[in-house]
Amino acid sequence: RTPLLAASNLAKIYVSRRGLFAPPTQVRAVDGVSLSLAKGTTLGIVGESGSGKSTTGRLLLGLETPTTGHASFAGEPMPREKTPQWRDLRKRMQLVYQDPLAALDRRLPVGRQIGEPLDIHALGSQQERIARVRELMDAVGLRPDQADRYPHELSGGQRQRVVIARAIACGPELLVCDEPVSALDVSIQAQVVNLLRDLQEKRAIAMVFISHDLKVVRNISDRVAVMYLGRIVEEGASEEIFRKPLHPYTQALVSSIPVPGTALKDRIVLHGEPPNPAARPAGCAFHPRCRFATAQCRAQNPELLDAGSDRKVACHLLGPANVTQRAAEVY
Ligand code: SF4
Ligand code: MG
Repeated sequence: RTPLLAASNLAKIYVSRRGLFAPPTQVRAVDGVSLSLAKGTTLGIVGESGSGKSTTGRLLLGLETPTTGHASFAGEPMPREKTPQWRDLRKRMQLVYQDPLAALDRRLPVGRQIGEPLDIHALGSQQERIARVRELMDAVGLRPDQADRYPHELSGGQRQRVVIARAIACGPELLVCDEPVSALDVSIQAQVVNLLRDLQEKRAIAMVFISHDLKVVRNISDRVAVMYLGRIVEEGASEEIFRKPLHPYTQALVSSIPVPGTALKDRIVLHGEPPNPAARPAGCAFHPRCRFATAQCRAQNPELLDAGSDRKVACHLLGPANVTQRAAEVY
C-alpha cells in the first residue's frame, strides 16, 4: 500500500555568512531524511533545537524545496514549484505551529478566521459555511459565542484551538504540528495534545507531531523518529522506543523523563555543547556527547540501519550484528 506521506533522502543545505566579510559556509539543516507515514497514523519527530525537525516538517509540506531528495503525498511527488497542483495538495495537508498569535490575524474575529479556508476554496453556501464553523468550533471545544472574539481576547490554549479548527476546516488528510503546545502553560498542554489525538482518531487524520519534548509526543505517536543534527538517529514504534531506547542519544532523552515501564533506571546526563548545525562534528555528529564514542565514531558517520523489531538505529555499536549484545550490556 502506498503510504500517505513518503520522504526519500531529503536534504536541505543553506549557505550562511557569519559576517559581511566572512566566507560563506554550508549549513546542513536536514541531511538525508527518509521516512514514511501510513494513513491516519501519527509520527512523532523529536530532537533538540537545531536538529532539523521544523525544516523537515516544511520540506514534507512542500513549503521548502529540498536541496536533494524528494517527498511525495498520496503517491504524488511534491511539486517543487508553487503550481496549482501544489495548492491543490496543500488543501489536503495543513501546518499547525507553535505560536497561534502569529498564525492569526489580530484584526479579525476568530470565527471568520476559522471559516477563511472555506471561503478561499468556495466550499458550500454562506449558510453552510456558518454551520460548518459552528461545527468546527464545537469539535475543538470552543463555544459559539467565542466566534466574535478577537485573538487577544482568548487564552493561549483557546487561540491554538482556533488555529486547529482552521487547519481542519477543509478536511485535511495530514496535519504537520510543529511544537503545537510548546508556547502553552504546562497545565494546558495535555488538553491540546488530547484534542489533537481525539481529532486524528475521529477524522482519521495522519499527523506529524514535532516536539523537543519526548514526553509530549509519547501519548500521541504510533511511531517516533529521533533527530540529531539533521539526521534521524533512531526510528521505531513509540512504545518500543520508550520501553527500550537503543541509540545512546535516545537513551539520554528517555532517561531524563520519569517514564513508568522503561528499562533505564538512572538519568543519563548529556555533557558537551548542544548541537549546532553550523559546526557539525565529523563522524557520528553525536560523538562529542556520547559516552560510548570510539575512534570509529569520530571518523565515520553511522548509517541508519535496521535493528530488528521494526526499528532503525544509526550507531556503530548498534549495527545489526551488535544490536542484541550491545543492548544487553547497556541494560
Ligand atoms: Fe555514540 Fe558512536 Fe553510536 Fe555515535 S556511533 S551514538 S558516538 S557509539
Ligand atoms: Mg523548530
